[in-house]
Amino acid sequence: HSGFIAIIGRPNVGKSTFLNQVIGEKVAIMSDKAQTTRNKIQGIYTTTDTQIVFIDTPGIHKPHSRLGDFMVESALSTLNEVDAVIFMVNATEKKGRGDEFIIKRLKQVKQPIFLVINKIDKIHPDALLGIVESYRNELDFAEVYPISALQGINCPELVGAISNLL
Ligand code: GDP
Ligand code: MG
Repeated sequence: HSGFIAIIGRPNVGKSTFLNQVIGEKVAIMSDKAQTTRNKIQGIYTTTDTQIVFIDTPGIHKPHSRLGDFMVESALSTLNEVDAVIFMVNATEKKGRGDEFIIKRLKQVKQPIFLVINKIDKIHPDALLGIVESYRNELDFAEVYPISALQGINCPELVGAISNLL
């Protein structure tokens, strides 16, 4: 199993924490460098039978300039080149305009999209269904995973599902 996975989501949803949880401490060092590089490799998950290259796609936010437009288009073309996309959202925050903007753009993406609802350690379990539905209304997801990147809850399961897809 090997392939490329793009991770997108608003700032602070927990993308770096997730990669640290899955791959280890090397990731933070990598992601702190080359902040301006587009489509940078964030980390590589390797086991005896699996290699998953995680790619950050910055620039999918509302553009305020033609350069911004260009960046968004560029990030979107990346999303169609990877094997699957992780769309990470924050379970503790309402779906915001940042999420809406990403969702609108994800509608143009043909690759399988995993909805990953992070920070479930901070919410009541009863709240989860409502969160899932609010996103499912708008987009078809290959799979939905509630996780805690911080505590590692459901992270091995998510990586396993990704690996099985590749
Ligand atoms: P990024 O901007 O998407 O890369 O987000 P970060 O990984 O930098 O995380 C932003 C903040 O959310 C940090 O303070 C993390 O410790 C916190 N965070 C990330 N994942 C979780 C989680 O699963 N549970 C909780 N409680 N906090 C989290
Ligand atoms: Mg980060």
